[in-house]
Amino acid sequence: MHMTITTGSYHCGETTWEYSGAPVWSGYCHCDDCRRNCDAPLVAWLGVPLESFRWTGSAPVTRLSCPGCKRHFCDTCGTPLGLGADHYPGDMHLYAASLEDPTQFTPEFHVFWSAKLPWLAMDDDLPKYDTSLADSAPELRER
Ligand SMILES: [Zn+2]
Ligand SMILES: [Zn+2]
Repeated sequence: MHMTITTGSYHCGETTWEYSGAPVWSGYCHCDDCRRNCDAPLVAWLGVPLESFRWTGSAPVTRLSCPGCKRHFCDTCGTPLGLGADHYPGDMHLYAASLEDPTQFTPEFHVFWSAKLPWLAMDDDLPKYDTSLADSAPELRER
């Protein structure tokens, strides 16, 4: 079977990534931690199995944000690069906006909908969970 390779890059171009196959999940997060980390009203994420993911280009720098949340940054321009979280073992979280072709992203749900900013208008019919994916929809964690 031919494995699709998907690639991504960031603002300065120093760090890039690639993964093979399909993402495990794709969705929007409205939590305060993501919001403040990215200075954005929400973050669009895709989850990719670590075994099919690799950084290409310069290695990221990493700091802890929420407990068990390892946030990766570009050492050159400071751009957020991704997240590894203990509550999602085996996944790399990537920003949909870092996809080489961000139009390829297909969101499937919202998490932390309870924290959505009141001025952010979203009228899709996607499932809306008030907590994390691990807590709200464990079936989406299976693969
Ligand atoms: Zn979040
Ligand atoms: Zn950079």
